[in-house]
Amino acid sequence: MITKDKSQALFEEAQNYIPGGVNSPVRAFKAVGGNPLFIKSAKGAYMYDVDGNAYVDLINSWGPMIFGHADDAVLEAVQKAIPASLSFGAPGASEVEIAALITDLFPSIEKVRMVNSGTEATMSAIRLARGYTGREKMIKFEGCYHGHGDSFLIAAGSGAITMGEPNSPGVTVGTAKDTLTAPYNNLEAVKTLVAANKNEVAAIILEPVAGNMGCVLPHEGYLQGLREICDQEGILLIVDEVMTGFRLAAGGAQEVFDVRADITTLGKIIGGGMPVGAYGGKREIMDYVSPQGPVYQAGTLSGNPISMAAGLAQLNKLKADKDLYNRLAEKTERIEAGIKKNLKELGLNYTTNRIGSMFTLFFTDQHVTNFEEAKACDLTLFGKFFNTMLEEGVYLPPSQFESWFISDALGDKEIDQIISASYKALKNLS
Ligand code: PMP
Repeated sequence: MITKDKSQALFEEAQNYIPGGVNSPVRAFKAVGGNPLFIKSAKGAYMYDVDGNAYVDLINSWGPMIFGHADDAVLEAVQKAIPASLSFGAPGASEVEIAALITDLFPSIEKVRMVNSGTEATMSAIRLARGYTGREKMIKFEGCYHGHGDSFLIAAGSGAITMGEPNSPGVTVGTAKDTLTAPYNNLEAVKTLVAANKNEVAAIILEPVAGNMGCVLPHEGYLQGLREICDQEGILLIVDEVMTGFRLAAGGAQEVFDVRADITTLGKIIGGGMPVGAYGGKREIMDYVSPQGPVYQAGTLSGNPISMAAGLAQLNKLKADKDLYNRLAEKTERIEAGIKKNLKELGLNYTTNRIGSMFTLFFTDQHVTNFEEAKACDLTLFGKFFNTMLEEGVYLPPSQFESWFISDALGDKEIDQIISASYKALKNLS
């Protein structure tokens, strides 16, 4: 048994001052029936808690740490930037540099605006789409999560499902009526919605690979089908690549699936672990953003030099590493293959979904291609699996409805540990 006394004491104290004791809901481990670990430090493939336990980390700060924690190049860049002050509130050269790099790597992005989180990116993108098209409605997909902006908290994924609150109180009826929802991977449902709301839909927003109902891949032709509907109907396609951007490829899911967004939202990896988001797209659309255009959006700390330094270091490293995405996919494939072998040996028939370095083991024997199917999972089994994995030193996302994020810091030793821990955890289920 590992000791968790210090984490336990901190969690008890935290609950006096912080709602639920955490600053983001899914961290509370509520869905898996435990108490959260308080983390003291992390390096490479490992996180260390305040009780001195080490864990192989398969969350990686929910995606940003693609090279693992405390990457030397990223830390060095931040340390170099710090003495020049933490924020200017005025333009700096690093903002130009990162914008040039992002527009170079992402073919559909001609201009980009930096913000401070993925939530800000999607909120700004939808306002821009509305301002640009002069229309008010949007279509989103059940189980997709786009941050906690009001209009996205309708049938939302991620922590919103985990907490059983896919439609949050506090979102007004007026806001909710402008968000139309359709099942993921179903083009007919989108066509029906568009036909019923002719000339009223400003944007279709989606995760090109969903990570927030667990990892769910788009059917062949699905993204192209959405692109066609948008082109026919004068609707903007917003591809939310906060999770997939620079994770699946340097050009994101758009590169992998050969589809082009009108507006792309980014976050996570582009900040190297610092709070960052961005939205970008066609020049003509982005020129609608203030001060060039009429759609207002601003930020006191937007483009701050420390976040830019961290992001630039990570993106430059990733750009220079031609084999990175092959390596990440190969590591994740080994994990998947190991888990599948364990399932077979134990006579279990659970589903796995994977693309590149995103992976989910679903506790259902059916295929998972949308939110309805993800909801069929046995969450009690997931909770048991999660807790044994933790006991075995492997830190998974504490919810069935999340993707694992594999970092390049994982070596053979860690991959073997994950596979053997999963054998025990799966055996423990019966
Ligand atoms: N979009 C997607 C696809 C996400 O996965 C997330 C966060 N997990 C967000 C938007 C929101 O980003 P943030 O948490 O940085 O606000």
